[in-house]
Amino acid sequence: MFNRRKFLQSSLLSSIGLTLGKKIFANERPYPVIKNNPIVISTWDAGLAANKDAWKILGSGGRALDAVEAGVMVTESEQSCCVGLGANPDRDGFVTLDASIMDENFNCGSVAFLERIKHPISVARRVMEKTPHVMLVGSGAQEFAVAEGFPLEEEKLSDDAEKNYKEWLKKSEYKPIINIENKKSSAFAPAKVNGEWNHDTIGMVAMDAQGNLSGSCTTSGMGFKMRGRLGDSPIIGAGLFVDNEVGAVTATGQGEDVIRICGSHTVIEFMRQGLSPEEACKKTVERIMKIKGEAAKQIQVAFIALNKKGQVGAYAIQKGFSYALKTNKEEKMVSAKSVLNGSDKW
Ligand code: ASP
Repeated sequence: MFNRRKFLQSSLLSSIGLTLGKKIFANERPYPVIKNNPIVISTWDAGLAANKDAWKILGSGGRALDAVEAGVMVTESEQSCCVGLGANPDRDGFVTLDASIMDENFNCGSVAFLERIKHPISVARRVMEKTPHVMLVGSGAQEFAVAEGFPLEEEKLSDDAEKNYKEWLKKSEYKPIINIENKKSSAFAPAKVNGEWNHDTIGMVAMDAQGNLSGSCTTSGMGFKMRGRLGDSPIIGAGLFVDNEVGAVTATGQGEDVIRICGSHTVIEFMRQGLSPEEACKKTVERIMKIKGEAAKQIQVAFIALNKKGQVGAYAIQKGFSYALKTNKEEKMVSAKSVLNGSDKW
């Protein structure tokens, strides 16, 4: 006999079945709509390793925001001269870190002048997700990070950074010149300025399988900088900008000159007008050069850009800038075009 008790039992069982069924279905296909082929690009040769970790997320249908965070964390973890706690210090010998992150909905977060925290990019993401603010700096950013459970680490310069700093101390010349590639170094080797390694940033932009864009940027800033100096990397619109209708852009090089023209935002606006990523980066680089005049020969600035169609491009002032690209078909370094080619007069 089909009594009320049996009816309740059977409907309970079937609803458990349904829930389980849904759960299994959801686990198998967490992102059912695949609209686009994912793609990730990031600055300099450190980008190759960073892209690999970003791809673990992008390649399995994950969100671009998660990918750009995980990707640059690889570079932050490496004890290198260039990004993270082992990086080139400021002129007083302290490593101070800047980072920013932006998603497909104009959510953004950044930290600047942050000390003794291994993953500034993740703190930037927490600022975005857990505070009503966009930017936290200095001791306030550090207090927030600690409150969020990030351990306070001991600062330890990498061997390269230690060597670079000692070399720099010999003259202690305050010349904030950045990223001019050594003519002798290969296109993908780190730059040297007066014998010192001087690349300090990784910027990454990505599109996920849903066609959403995100970007991240993390740096120890210009090597041997004045204490308290911030560059473009933590400034939304300068070192990084994402407009999900148009594209995603990040910058490297002399931060002051990127800030002056809201560089990454400018590239986005050129793309909105219909320019390709490469043309948009070129126009923006030229704008900086026009403002700087002759002094442009002394600096490097480069942009990498990804548009909504999944097309990528880059442009630099000086030759020698390269970026890493990964899609489901290829994984490679790409040499960017530049306005100046060593001997060129501009
Ligand atoms: N843009 C960074 C800064 O000015 C440095 C770099 O890209 O190497 O802090």
